[in-house]
Amino acid sequence: MDTRDADVLVVGAGPVGLTVASELARHGVSVRIIDKQATPLPFCRAIGVTPRSLEVLEDMGVARELIDGGIWLKGTRLETDGAPARDVLHDFSDLPYSSLGVPQYTTEAVLARHLATFGVDVERGVELVGLALQDDHVEIGLGTDGIETKHRFHYVVGCDGAHSLVRKALAINFEGSVMPLEFMLGDVRIDWSLPRGLAFRATQTAADAPPDFIVAIPLPGHGRYRVSTLAPASTATATATATATEQSGEWAHGIQADRPGPTLAELQAVADRLLETPAVLSDLRWSSRFRISMRLADAYGAGHAFIAGDACHIHPPTGGQGMNTGIQDAYNLAWKLALVVRGLAGPNILETYGAERRAVAADVVARTTEQSLNLGKSGAAPPNRLQDTQILVDYRDSALSLSKGSGPVPAGLRVPDVQGLRREGLNFPLRLFDILKGTSFVLLVAEGKDDAACEAAAAVLEARWPGLVRVVSIGDRADAQLERVEVILDAEGQFASVFGPSAGAAWLIRPDKYVGLDMEAWSLETVIAYLQDVVSCK
Ligand SMILES: Cc1cc2nc3c(=O)[nH]c(=O)nc-3n(C[C@H](O)[C@H](O)[C@H](O)COP(=O)(O)OP(=O)(O)OC[C@H]3O[C@@H](n4cnc5c(N)ncnc54)[C@H](O)[C@@H]3O)c2cc1C
Repeated sequence: MDTRDADVLVVGAGPVGLTVASELARHGVSVRIIDKQATPLPFCRAIGVTPRSLEVLEDMGVARELIDGGIWLKGTRLETDGAPARDVLHDFSDLPYSSLGVPQYTTEAVLARHLATFGVDVERGVELVGLALQDDHVEIGLGTDGIETKHRFHYVVGCDGAHSLVRKALAINFEGSVMPLEFMLGDVRIDWSLPRGLAFRATQTAADAPPDFIVAIPLPGHGRYRVSTLAPASTATATATATATEQSGEWAHGIQADRPGPTLAELQAVADRLLETPAVLSDLRWSSRFRISMRLADAYGAGHAFIAGDACHIHPPTGGQGMNTGIQDAYNLAWKLALVVRGLAGPNILETYGAERRAVAADVVARTTEQSLNLGKSGAAPPNRLQDTQILVDYRDSALSLSKGSGPVPAGLRVPDVQGLRREGLNFPLRLFDILKGTSFVLLVAEGKDDAACEAAAAVLEARWPGLVRVVSIGDRADAQLERVEVILDAEGQFASVFGPSAGAAWLIRPDKYVGLDMEAWSLETVIAYLQDVVSCK
């Protein structure tokens, strides 16, 4: 047995594995992360980073670096069946962040650098080759240069993508279907008059065939775009391949890295066929073919092993949801797993990971499949403006959501951000997200000026669960100097207008910034009962 083994092994250093590993490290858990690839893949798969992912990345401390390496995605210019172009623009000015475009390899590089700040590096060229669940740990076989070594870990998280070995070893079903089409991707320069930040989509619909299309998503860099199109004669070839692979029990999803990508001339031919105003594609940096399957894992873990990201859910890239859903799987799992590994919570809390996140993925798989089948068709219901931002994701039905109030921010909701807050000694305004930042629960009390009760509650919670809960009192003053409670002034009344003006109400915010418990009139007993019985804190 290798004595270097950490509490948790993360398998796969894609965006999801890197998020799980760095979140576990931030929560104080020792972690190893391996990837069978000797170097990261050069292909740009995900570009869109949703407003909700940026909130998550802000809490982790990497949003700024990602924004510096990206380009804001402002909307899409659509040309359908030769009709005049129309621009569909996003307006997310009511949210903390808009929609960002960053090549997936940049996102991965930023996350890997962030992970290294915790002293954890990705162990590359190391492949998971065997996994056996035991009652209280997982036995693991790792292969390096053809030599297998045996290890044991307290927990394992499989972020090993669509063909996850962890999922297979846990015998978790991954039912679904294959889209009988093949697509082409290319990273090119396009010289045209399209305003920077706009994506472009030209579609030619057909009554009895899939739509012919070209989509160009802007990338950082002068005139750079990632174009995607249907591969020529896609239907016939891909249907034959899909049937053959389905029959053999295999199926394809994602980049087909072992096959040659399309040439610049092939991509240009699609542009020439579909664009109303001709444009020249040049400087092809890389290209590839990709396939799509739609599948959802029956369970998100078994025993001491879990899966996250594409290992759990795969679907069309429409709406840019896959990596973002995976990053939020990671953010949801990491704090719960950290509490259990650190002995602060019992293992029951881990059941809420799959319960909360599988429902989200089921919706994403259904929605993106429908959107891609309806591509370019008129009459399709316009999507909810906020749906693809992932801001609307809630856990209201979760066993971790307990509502003892009737206010506008009930248990299970993502905490809304609020601006215009003040703290004594800081001569600049704060946002609620600044105050919630960090790895602990936050008990947010709408000030009832009962400072003694707040201080006493903070002392009891700290004595019982050191470092687990911070107490914040928020209201009409910032000058009270309390020993254990942060006092925040709602200087512009924004907190009261979003959360409701009721003095004495309180919210217990989870480490992933969802409301766990809301109370119309807060009581320490209710908070303790929630932590003890619902979160199963010890
Ligand atoms: C064309 C295209 C466009 C897309 N656009 C978007 C978008 O705009 N927004 C979005 O959110 N998503 C998008 N996606 C989806 C996104 O790319 C995936 O959801 C994302 O890569 C999933 O991340 P992951 O970490 O779960 O898996 P992966 O990125 O697949 O990483 C898995 C890692 O595990 C490693 N691994 C596998 N098996 C083993 C093993 N046995 N041992 C060790 N290591 C192993 C692999 O080498 C790999 O590095 C797009 C996908 C495609 C194909």
